[in-house]
Amino acid sequence: MGKIILHCDMNNFYASVECALNPELRKYPVAVCGDVEERHGIVLAKNIKAAAHKIKTGEAIWEAKQKCKNLVIVPPNFQEYMKFSKAAREIYSRYTSEIEPFGPDECWLDITGTAKNITEGERVAYRIKEEIKRELGVTVSVGVSFSKIFAKLGSDMKKPDAVTVIPEENYLDVIGDLPVSDILGVGPSTARKLRLYCVETISELAAFSKEMEKKLFGKCGEDLWYCANGMDCAKIISRDSETVDKTVGNGITLPKDLFENEDVWKTVLALSQEIGHRLMLNEKKAKDVSITVKDSAFVTNHWHCHLDGYTSSPYVIANAAFRLFENGYMWQKPVRAVTVRASNLALSDIPVQVSMFDNVKDESKRQLVSETVEKIRDRFGTDSIMNAVVLKAVKKDKTGIPF
Ligand SMILES: [Mg+2]
Repeated sequence: MGKIILHCDMNNFYASVECALNPELRKYPVAVCGDVEERHGIVLAKNIKAAAHKIKTGEAIWEAKQKCKNLVIVPPNFQEYMKFSKAAREIYSRYTSEIEPFGPDECWLDITGTAKNITEGERVAYRIKEEIKRELGVTVSVGVSFSKIFAKLGSDMKKPDAVTVIPEENYLDVIGDLPVSDILGVGPSTARKLRLYCVETISELAAFSKEMEKKLFGKCGEDLWYCANGMDCAKIISRDSETVDKTVGNGITLPKDLFENEDVWKTVLALSQEIGHRLMLNEKKAKDVSITVKDSAFVTNHWHCHLDGYTSSPYVIANAAFRLFENGYMWQKPVRAVTVRASNLALSDIPVQVSMFDNVKDESKRQLVSETVEKIRDRFGTDSIMNAVVLKAVKKDKTGIPF
Protein backbone atom coordinates (compact mmCIF):
# COMPACT_ATOMS: atom_id res chain seq x y z
CA MET A 1 0.00 0.00 0.00
CA GLY A 2 1.15 3.51 -0.78
CA LYS A 3 1.60 6.38 1.59
CA ILE A 4 -1.13 8.50 3.13
CA ILE A 5 -0.22 12.14 2.96
CA LEU A 6 -2.20 15.16 4.11
CA HIS A 7 -1.64 18.73 3.05
CA CYS A 8 -3.17 21.23 5.46
CA ASP A 9 -3.53 24.83 4.32
CA MET A 10 -4.92 27.49 6.63
CA ASN A 11 -7.31 29.65 4.60
CA ASN A 12 -6.60 33.37 4.06
CA PHE A 13 -4.08 32.95 6.83
CA TYR A 14 -3.10 36.48 7.94
CA ALA A 15 -6.65 37.81 7.58
CA SER A 16 -8.10 34.79 9.40
CA VAL A 17 -5.72 35.29 12.32
CA GLU A 18 -6.72 38.97 12.53
CA CYS A 19 -10.40 37.94 12.60
CA ALA A 20 -9.72 35.26 15.22
CA LEU A 21 -7.98 37.83 17.43
CA ASN A 22 -10.68 40.43 16.88
CA PRO A 23 -13.97 38.67 15.97
CA GLU A 24 -15.66 42.06 15.42
CA LEU A 25 -13.68 42.21 12.14
CA ARG A 26 -15.59 39.24 10.73
CA LYS A 27 -18.50 41.56 9.91
CA TYR A 28 -16.39 43.58 7.48
CA PRO A 29 -14.30 43.09 4.38
CA VAL A 30 -10.75 43.02 5.80
CA ALA A 31 -7.35 43.27 4.12
CA VAL A 32 -4.00 42.87 5.85
CA CYS A 33 -1.71 45.36 4.16
CA GLY A 34 2.00 46.18 4.35
CA ASP A 35 3.10 49.80 4.74
CA VAL A 36 -0.34 51.17 5.47
CA GLU A 37 0.86 54.77 5.72
CA GLU A 38 2.68 54.66 2.43
CA ARG A 39 0.89 54.94 -0.85
CA HIS A 40 2.65 51.94 -2.33
CA GLY A 41 1.51 49.53 0.40
CA ILE A 42 -0.03 46.33 -0.91
CA VAL A 43 -2.60 43.73 0.13
CA LEU A 44 -0.93 40.74 1.80
CA ALA A 45 -4.13 38.83 2.63
CA LYS A 46 -7.88 39.35 2.65
CA ASN A 47 -10.87 37.68 4.28
CA ILE A 48 -13.76 36.11 2.38
CA LYS A 49 -15.86 39.29 2.48
CA ALA A 50 -13.01 41.24 0.86
CA ALA A 51 -12.45 38.48 -1.70
CA ALA A 52 -16.12 38.86 -2.69
CA HIS A 53 -15.20 42.38 -3.83
CA LYS A 54 -12.52 40.80 -6.07
CA ILE A 55 -9.72 42.17 -3.93
CA LYS A 56 -6.51 40.36 -4.75
CA THR A 57 -3.34 39.62 -2.81
CA GLY A 58 -0.51 41.75 -4.16
CA GLU A 59 -2.59 44.68 -5.39
CA ALA A 60 -2.05 48.24 -4.18
CA ILE A 61 -4.13 49.49 -1.24
CA TRP A 62 -5.59 52.32 -3.31
CA GLU A 63 -6.75 49.86 -5.98
CA ALA A 64 -8.35 47.66 -3.32
CA LYS A 65 -10.11 50.66 -1.79
CA GLN A 66 -11.51 51.63 -5.17
CA LYS A 67 -13.15 48.22 -5.41
CA CYS A 68 -14.50 48.35 -1.86
CA LYS A 69 -14.99 51.67 -0.11
CA ASN A 70 -15.56 50.25 3.41
CA LEU A 71 -12.56 47.91 3.29
CA VAL A 72 -10.94 47.65 6.73
CA ILE A 73 -7.16 47.84 6.45
CA VAL A 74 -5.14 46.07 9.15
CA PRO A 75 -1.34 46.19 9.46
CA PRO A 76 0.43 42.81 9.61
CA ASN A 77 1.38 41.32 12.96
CA PHE A 78 3.87 38.60 12.14
CA GLN A 79 4.56 37.62 15.74
CA GLU A 80 0.91 36.59 16.08
CA TYR A 81 0.94 34.73 12.76
CA MET A 82 3.96 32.77 13.93
CA LYS A 83 2.14 31.83 17.16
CA PHE A 84 -0.82 30.47 15.16
CA SER A 85 1.54 28.68 12.81
CA LYS A 86 3.25 26.94 15.74
CA ALA A 87 -0.07 26.10 17.42
CA ALA A 88 -1.34 24.48 14.20
CA ARG A 89 1.83 22.39 13.97
CA GLU A 90 1.26 21.26 17.54
CA ILE A 91 -2.20 20.04 16.57
CA TYR A 92 -0.74 18.19 13.57
CA SER A 93 1.86 16.58 15.83
CA ARG A 94 -0.95 14.73 17.68
CA TYR A 95 -1.21 12.55 14.58
CA THR A 96 2.35 12.23 13.29
CA SER A 97 5.89 13.40 13.86
CA GLU A 98 6.48 13.58 10.12
CA ILE A 99 5.49 17.16 9.41
CA GLU A 100 6.97 19.33 6.69
CA PRO A 101 6.08 23.03 6.82
CA PHE A 102 5.62 24.88 3.54
CA GLY A 103 5.43 28.52 4.52
CA PRO A 104 3.76 29.67 7.74
CA ASP A 105 0.26 28.42 6.84
CA GLU A 106 0.83 25.11 5.08
CA CYS A 107 2.17 21.70 6.15
CA TRP A 108 2.47 18.23 4.72
CA LEU A 109 1.83 15.37 7.12
CA ASP A 110 2.77 11.76 6.49
CA ILE A 111 0.15 9.81 8.48
CA THR A 112 0.89 6.39 6.97
CA GLY A 113 1.71 5.13 10.48
CA THR A 114 -1.57 6.41 11.95
CA ALA A 115 -4.08 5.68 9.17
CA LYS A 116 -4.31 2.19 7.64
CA ASN A 117 -6.03 3.31 4.47
CA ILE A 118 -7.29 6.39 2.65
CA THR A 119 -10.70 6.25 4.39
CA GLU A 120 -8.95 6.47 7.75
CA GLY A 121 -6.79 9.20 6.29
CA GLU A 122 -9.91 11.14 5.42
CA ARG A 123 -11.23 10.69 8.95
CA VAL A 124 -7.99 12.10 10.39
CA ALA A 125 -8.25 15.04 7.96
CA TYR A 126 -11.75 15.89 9.26
CA ARG A 127 -10.59 15.64 12.87
CA ILE A 128 -7.65 17.96 12.23
CA LYS A 129 -9.89 20.41 10.42
CA GLU A 130 -12.32 20.54 13.36
CA GLU A 131 -9.55 20.78 15.99
CA ILE A 132 -7.93 23.71 14.18
CA LYS A 133 -11.28 25.48 13.92
CA ARG A 134 -12.23 24.87 17.54
CA GLU A 135 -8.85 25.59 19.13
CA LEU A 136 -7.49 28.34 16.88
CA GLY A 137 -10.61 29.90 15.40
CA VAL A 138 -9.32 29.68 11.82
CA THR A 139 -10.28 27.29 9.03
CA VAL A 140 -8.11 24.89 7.12
CA SER A 141 -8.42 23.05 3.80
CA VAL A 142 -6.99 19.55 3.76
CA GLY A 143 -5.96 17.42 0.80
CA VAL A 144 -5.69 13.65 1.37
CA SER A 145 -3.72 11.62 -1.12
CA PHE A 146 -0.86 9.17 -1.74
CA SER A 147 1.72 11.77 -2.82
CA LYS A 148 2.78 15.21 -1.65
CA ILE A 149 1.95 16.90 -4.93
CA PHE A 150 -1.57 15.47 -5.08
CA ALA A 151 -2.24 16.19 -1.39
CA LYS A 152 -1.28 19.81 -2.09
CA LEU A 153 -3.50 19.84 -5.16
CA GLY A 154 -6.35 18.48 -3.03
CA SER A 155 -6.09 21.23 -0.45
CA ASP A 156 -6.39 23.80 -3.26
CA MET A 157 -9.49 22.21 -4.78
CA LYS A 158 -12.05 23.05 -2.10
CA LYS A 159 -11.75 26.13 0.08
CA PRO A 160 -12.35 27.16 2.80
CA ASP A 161 -12.92 24.63 5.60
CA ALA A 162 -12.95 21.51 3.42
CA VAL A 163 -11.43 18.07 2.88
CA THR A 164 -10.65 16.70 -0.60
CA VAL A 165 -9.59 13.10 -1.17
CA ILE A 166 -7.55 12.01 -4.20
CA PRO A 167 -7.30 8.20 -3.97
CA GLU A 168 -4.56 6.21 -5.69
CA GLU A 169 -7.00 3.84 -7.45
CA ASN A 170 -8.83 6.47 -9.47
CA TYR A 171 -6.91 9.70 -9.07
CA LEU A 172 -7.34 10.68 -12.72
CA ASP A 173 -11.13 10.56 -12.29
CA VAL A 174 -10.77 13.26 -9.64
CA ILE A 175 -8.03 15.49 -11.05
CA GLY A 176 -7.55 14.36 -14.67
CA ASP A 177 -9.43 17.31 -16.15
CA LEU A 178 -7.59 19.96 -14.12
CA PRO A 179 -5.07 22.14 -15.97
CA VAL A 180 -1.41 21.10 -15.62
CA SER A 181 -0.69 24.49 -14.06
CA ASP A 182 -2.60 23.36 -10.95
CA ILE A 183 0.36 21.09 -10.15
CA LEU A 184 2.81 22.65 -7.72
CA GLY A 185 5.88 23.77 -9.64
CA VAL A 186 4.28 23.98 -13.09
CA GLY A 187 4.62 27.65 -13.93
CA PRO A 188 3.10 29.60 -16.83
CA SER A 189 6.09 29.04 -19.14
CA THR A 190 6.04 25.23 -18.66
CA ALA A 191 2.27 25.22 -19.22
CA ARG A 192 2.69 27.34 -22.39
CA LYS A 193 5.31 25.00 -23.76
CA LEU A 194 3.18 21.93 -23.04
CA ARG A 195 0.20 23.55 -24.75
CA LEU A 196 2.22 23.55 -27.98
CA TYR A 197 2.07 19.75 -27.75
CA CYS A 198 -1.68 19.79 -26.98
CA VAL A 199 -1.02 18.93 -23.34
CA GLU A 200 -3.35 21.03 -21.22
CA THR A 201 -4.80 18.73 -18.57
CA ILE A 202 -3.24 16.38 -16.03
CA SER A 203 -4.67 13.36 -17.94
CA GLU A 204 -3.00 14.58 -21.13
CA LEU A 205 0.23 15.08 -19.25
CA ALA A 206 0.06 11.50 -17.90
CA ALA A 207 -0.46 10.16 -21.43
CA PHE A 208 2.34 12.27 -22.93
CA SER A 209 5.69 10.67 -23.78
CA LYS A 210 8.18 10.52 -20.92
CA GLU A 211 11.12 10.89 -23.31
CA MET A 212 9.59 13.97 -24.89
CA GLU A 213 8.99 15.54 -21.51
CA LYS A 214 12.58 14.85 -20.54
CA LYS A 215 13.75 16.39 -23.79
CA LEU A 216 11.68 19.51 -23.22
CA PHE A 217 12.36 20.14 -19.54
CA GLY A 218 15.26 17.87 -18.56
CA LYS A 219 15.16 16.10 -15.19
CA CYS A 220 12.21 18.27 -14.06
CA GLY A 221 10.22 17.07 -17.09
CA GLU A 222 10.87 13.46 -16.16
CA ASP A 223 9.80 14.12 -12.55
CA LEU A 224 6.67 15.82 -13.82
CA TRP A 225 5.80 12.77 -15.91
CA TYR A 226 6.26 10.47 -12.90
CA CYS A 227 4.11 12.83 -10.85
CA ALA A 228 1.24 12.88 -13.39
CA ASN A 229 1.42 9.10 -13.51
CA GLY A 230 1.01 8.79 -9.77
CA MET A 231 4.64 7.88 -9.17
CA ASP A 232 5.81 10.93 -7.27
CA CYS A 233 7.45 9.51 -4.18
CA ALA A 234 8.95 12.65 -2.65
CA LYS A 235 9.30 12.15 1.09
CA ILE A 236 8.14 14.38 3.89
CA ILE A 237 11.15 16.31 5.18
CA SER A 238 10.17 16.67 8.79
CA ARG A 239 10.80 19.55 11.11
CA ASP A 240 13.82 18.08 12.81
CA SER A 241 15.63 17.36 9.58
CA GLU A 242 18.84 19.32 9.33
CA THR A 243 18.93 21.62 6.36
CA VAL A 244 16.48 23.14 3.94
CA ASP A 245 17.83 23.84 0.51
CA LYS A 246 16.72 27.39 -0.05
CA THR A 247 18.15 30.87 -0.04
CA VAL A 248 16.95 34.26 1.09
CA GLY A 249 18.17 37.14 -1.03
CA ASN A 250 17.55 40.85 -1.36
CA GLY A 251 18.88 43.19 -4.01
CA ILE A 252 18.63 46.71 -5.34
CA THR A 253 19.58 48.64 -8.45
CA LEU A 254 20.60 51.94 -6.95
CA PRO A 255 18.97 55.21 -7.98
CA LYS A 256 22.48 56.58 -8.44
CA ASP A 257 25.85 54.83 -8.65
CA LEU A 258 27.92 54.41 -5.51
CA PHE A 259 31.54 55.58 -5.35
CA GLU A 260 32.63 54.66 -1.83
CA ASN A 261 32.89 51.67 0.48
CA GLU A 262 30.86 53.45 3.12
CA ASP A 263 27.84 53.80 0.83
CA VAL A 264 28.11 50.17 -0.16
CA TRP A 265 28.21 49.22 3.54
CA LYS A 266 24.98 51.17 4.21
CA THR A 267 23.29 49.48 1.27
CA VAL A 268 24.49 46.02 2.32
CA LEU A 269 23.26 46.64 5.87
CA ALA A 270 19.83 47.78 4.68
CA LEU A 271 19.50 44.74 2.41
CA SER A 272 20.67 42.41 5.17
CA GLN A 273 18.09 43.73 7.62
CA GLU A 274 15.36 42.52 5.33
CA ILE A 275 17.13 39.16 4.93
CA GLY A 276 17.44 38.74 8.71
CA HIS A 277 13.79 39.67 9.04
CA ARG A 278 12.76 37.01 6.54
CA LEU A 279 14.99 34.37 8.09
CA MET A 280 13.52 34.98 11.54
CA LEU A 281 9.96 34.91 10.20
CA ASN A 282 10.64 31.57 8.59
CA GLU A 283 12.50 30.29 11.64
CA LYS A 284 15.67 29.74 9.65
CA LYS A 285 19.35 30.46 10.04
CA ALA A 286 21.99 30.64 7.33
CA LYS A 287 25.51 29.28 7.13
CA ASP A 288 26.57 30.87 3.82
CA VAL A 289 26.55 34.45 2.60
CA SER A 290 27.13 35.79 -0.87
CA ILE A 291 27.14 39.19 -2.51
CA THR A 292 26.71 40.10 -6.16
CA VAL A 293 27.73 43.54 -7.36
CA LYS A 294 27.11 44.99 -10.79
CA ASP A 295 29.24 47.95 -11.80
CA SER A 296 28.24 50.87 -14.00
CA ALA A 297 29.59 49.02 -17.06
CA PHE A 298 27.19 46.15 -16.21
CA VAL A 299 30.05 43.82 -15.26
CA THR A 300 28.94 41.42 -12.53
CA ASN A 301 31.14 40.33 -9.62
CA HIS A 302 30.15 37.58 -7.22
CA TRP A 303 31.71 36.43 -3.94
CA HIS A 304 30.64 33.77 -1.52
CA CYS A 305 31.74 32.59 1.94
CA HIS A 306 30.89 30.14 4.72
CA LEU A 307 30.23 31.55 8.16
CA ASP A 308 31.65 29.91 11.28
CA GLY A 309 28.16 29.09 12.51
CA TYR A 310 24.49 29.53 11.61
CA THR A 311 22.95 32.98 12.00
CA SER A 312 19.88 35.06 11.30
CA SER A 313 21.52 38.24 12.55
CA PRO A 314 21.36 40.99 9.91
CA TYR A 315 24.57 42.43 11.30
CA VAL A 316 26.54 39.20 10.91
CA ILE A 317 25.20 38.70 7.38
CA ALA A 318 25.94 42.31 6.41
CA ASN A 319 29.42 42.11 7.89
CA ALA A 320 30.28 38.93 5.98
CA ALA A 321 28.90 40.30 2.72
CA PHE A 322 30.72 43.58 3.09
CA ARG A 323 34.04 41.89 3.92
CA LEU A 324 33.74 39.91 0.69
CA PHE A 325 33.06 43.11 -1.23
CA GLU A 326 35.83 45.08 0.43
CA ASN A 327 38.42 42.42 -0.28
CA GLY A 328 37.30 41.71 -3.81
CA TYR A 329 36.17 44.92 -5.46
CA MET A 330 38.81 46.99 -7.21
CA TRP A 331 36.76 50.18 -7.69
CA GLN A 332 37.60 50.49 -11.38
CA LYS A 333 33.99 51.52 -11.89
CA PRO A 334 31.27 52.77 -9.52
CA VAL A 335 28.67 50.34 -8.19
CA ARG A 336 25.28 50.15 -9.85
CA ALA A 337 23.48 47.21 -8.20
CA VAL A 338 23.96 45.09 -5.09
CA THR A 339 22.38 41.78 -4.07
CA VAL A 340 23.04 40.00 -0.77
CA ARG A 341 22.03 36.39 -0.30
CA ALA A 342 21.94 34.04 2.70
CA SER A 343 21.97 30.35 1.85
CA ASN A 344 22.62 26.87 3.24
CA LEU A 345 19.68 27.32 5.58
CA ALA A 346 18.70 25.28 8.60
CA LEU A 347 15.86 25.55 11.06
CA SER A 348 16.61 28.14 13.69
CA ASP A 349 16.66 25.64 16.56
CA ILE A 350 19.63 23.82 15.01
CA PRO A 351 22.36 23.33 17.61
CA VAL A 352 25.06 25.90 16.91
CA GLN A 353 28.64 24.77 16.68
CA VAL A 354 30.71 27.43 18.43
CA SER A 355 34.28 27.98 17.37
CA MET A 356 36.86 28.30 20.14
CA PHE A 357 37.71 31.74 18.86
CA ASP A 358 34.15 33.05 18.79
CA ASN A 359 33.06 35.47 21.41
CA VAL A 360 29.91 33.65 22.42
CA LYS A 361 28.66 36.43 24.65
CA ASP A 362 28.96 39.03 21.90
CA GLU A 363 27.20 36.79 19.40
CA SER A 364 24.28 35.97 21.69
CA LYS A 365 23.93 39.64 22.64
CA ARG A 366 23.86 40.55 18.97
CA GLN A 367 21.26 37.86 18.35
CA LEU A 368 19.14 39.23 21.20
CA VAL A 369 19.36 42.75 19.80
CA SER A 370 18.35 41.48 16.35
CA GLU A 371 15.36 39.61 17.74
CA THR A 372 14.23 42.65 19.74
CA VAL A 373 14.55 44.85 16.67
CA GLU A 374 12.43 42.30 14.79
CA LYS A 375 9.69 42.51 17.41
CA ILE A 376 9.66 46.30 17.19
CA ARG A 377 9.51 46.18 13.39
CA ASP A 378 6.64 43.73 13.51
CA ARG A 379 4.62 45.91 15.82
CA PHE A 380 5.42 49.34 14.48
CA GLY A 381 6.46 48.74 10.89
CA THR A 382 9.64 48.03 9.01
CA ASP A 383 10.94 51.58 9.17
CA SER A 384 10.21 52.13 12.85
CA ILE A 385 13.75 51.18 13.87
CA MET A 386 16.96 50.91 11.90
CA ASN A 387 20.68 51.30 12.20
CA ALA A 388 21.67 54.95 12.36
CA VAL A 389 23.89 54.62 9.30
CA VAL A 390 20.99 53.28 7.28
CA LEU A 391 18.78 56.22 8.15
CA LYS A 392 20.71 58.50 5.87
CA ALA A 393 21.41 55.82 3.33
CA VAL A 394 20.07 55.49 -0.13
CA LYS A 395 16.32 55.00 -0.10
CA LYS A 396 15.45 51.37 -0.61
CA ASP A 397 13.31 50.28 -3.48
CA LYS A 398 10.50 49.14 -1.26
CA THR A 399 7.57 47.18 -2.49
CA GLY A 400 6.04 46.67 0.92
CA ILE A 401 6.27 42.90 0.50
CA PRO A 402 7.60 41.50 3.75
CA PHE A 403 8.74 38.19 2.25
MG1 LIG B 1 -3.15 29.33 2.99
